[in-house]
Amino acid sequence: MSDETVKRPSRLANYWDLFERLRDPTLMLDPETYAIRDANDACEAVLGRAPDTLLDQPILPLVAERERAAMEKSLRVARRRYYPVRFESRWTAADGRELVMDIAACALALQDGTSVIQLISRDMTHVREAENKMQRYLLELSQLNRKLEELSITDELTGLANVRCFKAQLEQEHQRSGRYKSLYSVIFCDVDHFKKYNDRNGHPAGDQVLKGVADAIKREVRTTDLAARYGGEEFVVLCPGVDEAGAAILAERIRRRVAETPFAFAEAQPLGHVSLSLGVAHFPSDSTDPAKILKAADLALYHSKHQGRDRVTLYSAIRDSLPQAA
Ligand code: GH3
Ligand code: MG
Ligand code: MG
Repeated sequence: MSDETVKRPSRLANYWDLFERLRDPTLMLDPETYAIRDANDACEAVLGRAPDTLLDQPILPLVAERERAAMEKSLRVARRRYYPVRFESRWTAADGRELVMDIAACALALQDGTSVIQLISRDMTHVREAENKMQRYLLELSQLNRKLEELSITDELTGLANVRCFKAQLEQEHQRSGRYKSLYSVIFCDVDHFKKYNDRNGHPAGDQVLKGVADAIKREVRTTDLAARYGGEEFVVLCPGVDEAGAAILAERIRRRVAETPFAFAEAQPLGHVSLSLGVAHFPSDSTDPAKILKAADLALYHSKHQGRDRVTLYSAIRDSLPQAA
């Protein structure tokens, strides 16, 4: 007896003991016909097929039809290999369930000088099912996260960006404009006498006006602009790369579109229609601080209110008349 044999008792053991006790369905196949020449007890436990019922049967009918050609190809390689060919294969259990089997197939020399294909199969069905379930959960989770992210930056009533999104974009645009010596404008809008509208026509009708105003703004802005609901009946538009004159034109277009929109009960409003007061401020000419740009647009808006509403005011036009520059 060689040293190696003494050190490794497996060399002295019977292959049959291992074959019978393996918990993985193990088959021996004829290397030419792929008929099953032997099968262990695990075939019954896992596949629901008693070893006796498998003997002399061809292997391929156990395999899902769409995978039989691939299985045959793998067996053709395995019968000449002493190291296992590994592949996954779908098998049908006796009760009709489709099982995902991890296969290791290789040639096995027998003591009579012939050989068979030894095919050890491991049931991976539950593992694959769990993996698929996990994949589905991950996909669902990422879709929910995307939706959540969208909700967290959207105003529910109007579908415009919300104030949080606006402030983040303003900050980003401000940094970009500073770096690239670019410019931007901000337009602040506030619905005139909106409390009266609500009081007379009810909150739901007021909501319809807010939606209509948001739609009017959406129709006028460009895709590079960001329109947001600042809160209540206040809206704001960030216009990257737009100078003061361009922003004044856009503000006037928004004002006119709202004034001309046929809102329900609009004729009872103090001006005879639903209207907006607007204020425009510009970076960098009005301030180099984004918070002050917003404040400047707000001051200009309040000037529009005091001048009779339904109008646009540029901050630059009132700056000198204010007690303190923004
Ligand atoms: P001004 O012309 O000076 O802006 O007057 P105003 O009445 O528009 O301004 P005020 O600030 O007095 O009232 C704003 C009103 O907007 C009061 C509030 O009930 C209403 N409002 C705020 N948010 C909503 C909303 O989501 N839906 C509705 N329907 N009304 C709202
Ligand atoms: Mg207001
Ligand atoms: Mg108002």
